[in-house]
Amino acid sequence: MPFTNLGLNNSLLKAIKDQGYDTPTPIQQQAIPVVIEGKDVLAAAQTGTGKTAGFTLPLLERLSETHPKMGSKQIRVLVLTPTRELAAQVAESIKTYGKYMKYSSTVIFGGVGIYPQLATIKKGVDIVIATPGRLLDIASQKGIDFSAVETLVLDEADRMLDMGFIHDIKKLMKMMPKQRQTLLFSATFSKEIKQLASGLLIDPVLIEVARENTTAEQVSQVVHYVDKGRKRELLSQLIKTKEWRQVLVFTRTKHGANKLTKQLEEAGISAAAIHGNKSQGARTKALASFKANEIRVLVATDIAARGIDIDQLPHVVNYELPNVPEDYVHRIGRTGRAGQSGEAISLVCVDEHKLLFDIEKFIKSEIKKVHIEAFTPDPSIQAEPIQNGRGGGQRRGGGSSRNGAKPASGGNSRNRNRSNNKNSSSKKPEAKNSENRSAEKKRPDGEKPQSRKQRSNSQASQIGSRIQEKLDKLDKRDDRTQEKNNNRNNNRRR
Ligand code: AMP
Repeated sequence: MPFTNLGLNNSLLKAIKDQGYDTPTPIQQQAIPVVIEGKDVLAAAQTGTGKTAGFTLPLLERLSETHPKMGSKQIRVLVLTPTRELAAQVAESIKTYGKYMKYSSTVIFGGVGIYPQLATIKKGVDIVIATPGRLLDIASQKGIDFSAVETLVLDEADRMLDMGFIHDIKKLMKMMPKQRQTLLFSATFSKEIKQLASGLLIDPVLIEVARENTTAEQVSQVVHYVDKGRKRELLSQLIKTKEWRQVLVFTRTKHGANKLTKQLEEAGISAAAIHGNKSQGARTKALASFKANEIRVLVATDIAARGIDIDQLPHVVNYELPNVPEDYVHRIGRTGRAGQSGEAISLVCVDEHKLLFDIEKFIKSEIKKVHIEAFTPDPSIQAEPIQNGRGGGQRRGGGSSRNGAKPASGGNSRNRNRSNNKNSSSKKPEAKNSENRSAEKKRPDGEKPQSRKQRSNSQASQIGSRIQEKLDKLDKRDDRTQEKNNNRNNNRRR
């Protein structure tokens, strides 16, 4: 089905043509006509499926067909996203597709000065794309009026819940007009998402374009087993010998991202880090340089990478496996987007065997293992507990292991990053996220909690906690530096 059959006006069709798109993706084919009709939509679509255009195109069409209810200065469309990066990308999409139309839009997120945002809203905009925390801050200062919102979009709703935004969302929902169109996009339809949807959507059209918990089929996935101490060497070698020009590398911690970036730079590979402790300016700059191929490697933590949209990103490397299997799917979803092929490479050390097992169980397939002779793991190296930057507590990836790996312990990177994202509203309590919840749950694979052998490894765990304390200190130092930078920037802006 061509774009011309979907009910979009000529300005939009022209903008689509400028982008070089020939055919709508499945989510676009299904969503565009029903959104134009004004129906509520509940869509299960992963990133990379073309979902952003799937809602921005019909929303622009609707804006052109209807007149503002309450004067031209009112907000007619509100899009909520979990991260600043995703908000910025949705805004970019709206600009791209709406370039031959006359609608104004603005992005609202934390980590930057609030006053320019208040001023823009006061002037009047048609479309607001926002992260929930900052939007709520503005709303509580009575800086925004939602009474004319015709369409509300919750993008990547599953991640918003994971990040603990549920309370902010609930408060915001109470401020929305009852009569409105609501679109909810989520990578998966969890129980929580269904619950949220049932309270927000009226008779929604259900759209599901990818099977739940599946990885994008056009992404080839490979695991290289390697000792932890040799990962950096292997990564540099892969980048150099395979001549990778654009690689997104995931680490588990902010400190790890900084350290790896420095090491890659020292090895002559241009790299930048992107994580919650970086100022918004630094994050935007790093992403722009990466997109423009000025730097070869972008090292990111999970939260910062959420929503990163780079056309035809060819390689994603899991320098460290994520503790939560869902994050693996999100990570590798950065490549192989909209039908392009991509490669996801995981460097797995002995500590991470259990995490790999959990990931394979989650995606319901085994990932191909490719042995690299020069990097054969040393069999005498014993598995150690996984350090995760801050905090304690056993995680979902932990527990006893088939292969002797000890529990994956560690902090709560999502919560940490959330608190950094929201440094303007630190008084709000940290919400419980899925990692906390899953830590409280029973082991998912039903194994016994801990073997005697593992208990006898408490000595190693103690060493682990000392390392943990050191990592905590480093993260706290990063936090303080970041806070100072933010304050300085805010003062300068004022
Ligand atoms: P999304 O899932 O919205 O993050 O989109 C993923 C990528 O697909 C983006 O880089 C879009 O520019 C691209 N894209 C969206 N729609 C199409 C289409 N119909 N044909 C080709 N690429 C598309």
